[in-house]
Amino acid sequence: MHTCFMRKIPLLVSLLLAGFFALSQRISYFVSFPNLAHHEAQVSLIVSDLPTRSAVFRMSRSSPGRYATHEFGKNVYDVKAFDEKSGSLEVLRRDGDVYEVPRSGGYIRLVYTIFGNYADGTYLGLDQEDIHINMPAMFMWLKGADKMPITIHFDIPQDLHWTIATQLKPTSDPWTFWAPGLQYFMDCPTKIGNLSYRNWELRNPDGKTYQFRLAFDGKSDDSVLTAFSQKVARMVREEQAIFSETPAYDFGNYTFLASINPFVHGDGMEHRNSTMISIPAEFHGEDFLLEVFAHEFFHCWNVKRIRPRSLEPFNFEKSNMSDELWFAEGFTQYYGELVVVRSGMQEDTSFSDAMTGYINTKLNTAGAKFYSPVDASRHAVYTDAGVAVDKTNYPNMFASYYPYGASVALALDLQLRQQFGKTLDELMQAAWKRFGKPEIPYTLEGLQETLATLTGDGKFAAAFFSKYITGHQAPDYKPLLAQAGFLLIRPGEGKSWIGNLRFTDKEGLTLASATIRTTPLYEAGADADDRILKLGDTPLKNQRELNDWLSVHKPGETHWLTYMHHGVEKTSRITLSENPYWKVVTYESAGLPVNEQMRQFRRNWLGTRLK
Ligand SMILES: [Zn+2]
Repeated sequence: MHTCFMRKIPLLVSLLLAGFFALSQRISYFVSFPNLAHHEAQVSLIVSDLPTRSAVFRMSRSSPGRYATHEFGKNVYDVKAFDEKSGSLEVLRRDGDVYEVPRSGGYIRLVYTIFGNYADGTYLGLDQEDIHINMPAMFMWLKGADKMPITIHFDIPQDLHWTIATQLKPTSDPWTFWAPGLQYFMDCPTKIGNLSYRNWELRNPDGKTYQFRLAFDGKSDDSVLTAFSQKVARMVREEQAIFSETPAYDFGNYTFLASINPFVHGDGMEHRNSTMISIPAEFHGEDFLLEVFAHEFFHCWNVKRIRPRSLEPFNFEKSNMSDELWFAEGFTQYYGELVVVRSGMQEDTSFSDAMTGYINTKLNTAGAKFYSPVDASRHAVYTDAGVAVDKTNYPNMFASYYPYGASVALALDLQLRQQFGKTLDELMQAAWKRFGKPEIPYTLEGLQETLATLTGDGKFAAAFFSKYITGHQAPDYKPLLAQAGFLLIRPGEGKSWIGNLRFTDKEGLTLASATIRTTPLYEAGADADDRILKLGDTPLKNQRELNDWLSVHKPGETHWLTYMHHGVEKTSRITLSENPYWKVVTYESAGLPVNEQMRQFRRNWLGTRLK
């Protein structure tokens, strides 16, 4: 999400440019919090030496790492503008979130009130206890001024003894920060409050050292937080080993902004030099929390620097469609879960649960059976925390690119190991060297070429992409898993089944959601809000009676289904099938022998990469 400005101009030069701009055009924000009790802040946006006659300010409609639109303009009101002598200027509201100030001088101070009471990785949380800022949810910006350096000052009452955690660049004033331009500014979530910190250093093979910081918002014993931060540090080293190095963080450090308390909403959002993690729970240093940290940290390579061309530059005025989220998110999902196992925070056999999820997504969801990972990625503009008032048909035409992409990562990793003596780690490292480190945005073709180069087999790479990335064929997981001593079993074999059903009521059989194509109930014509009345001649009143009926009938049998739709009783034929759900289990738990080759394979795949 970084502009050419960030990418092509080295830091030193950009700092010099900043000095130059400081003499002419620049943008400054002043933020104060006179009404935190009611979740409000006052924002002043000052622009000086404007060359144009009219200035257009707007709120964003999207946020880095979120691909659907979010209407941040809805929480803005009392928008006013002033000139240098505090004289009022006219403000014309051009759209819900667009404000124009026509004027003669080159100076404008735009002032507005913003409300925010939803702390997560996207929105704004203004509260007496802490301030939780995702920049697009709070700050209007001047159109056409994306490249202008930005300074921001936070006016915080000193008696609160709060601290601030952000990846905006510090200045000599502890409450004033700097960003080289709008894209960087928007990518720096900020927390202000009673934060606890843990710091450590990490050295790259080139000898450069980076500072890491865990800024924690929640209640914790010191020793618990310290132990947890040591696990995060271990995970960071484990991921560094995959790519061979961490990115060169812009200002020499990386921050985990971690809010783990009951007052936030669950999320994790990656940024260039930080991540905003919010988990609504009391914190006890649990190991499973590390998975979110591992996922978000992996993004500092994959998506923030190994970046799809479709997301460059990130557009704050609309949704951002990408063909590549199966890779950006799906491969990150795979590694987030894998790295927790490699770091020793979970048993290596627990990875079978993650694989069960990936494989069922691929083999047993309509979205992945009938559409490609590219198709799934494109639909993120609606599904990525998008809001729909009407009903959607996602279960029949969309699969989440997280587990769908992870199902591709799993198949590719195992196939690279089986066929080429290579690993997915090596592919990620190759993508890092080719696209990430030089910050050249990639395309699908570029990724395919990277796979071709790694394997030395262009035909394999082309076939893999056409079958599993732009196509929607299913990999044959059984032999791939067998190398590592994992087995695919079908627990529902031999038992009759009419679909994965949820009902609106405990006592009754009214379908709570859309039925899924290829399942018996879908083929029989029943859908959401319909009520099952009878199978064959047997009246059914609840789930127990339905299950009893299914248990005495066999897959393949055809019966009459009677159901109620819009007050009309309907009858159709239904053919019972088997639950197609797959489960990945270890050979050990299936009573099969595990040989030394399998153990070695598991060590190489699921074991630590640290020496
Ligand atoms: Zn992610």
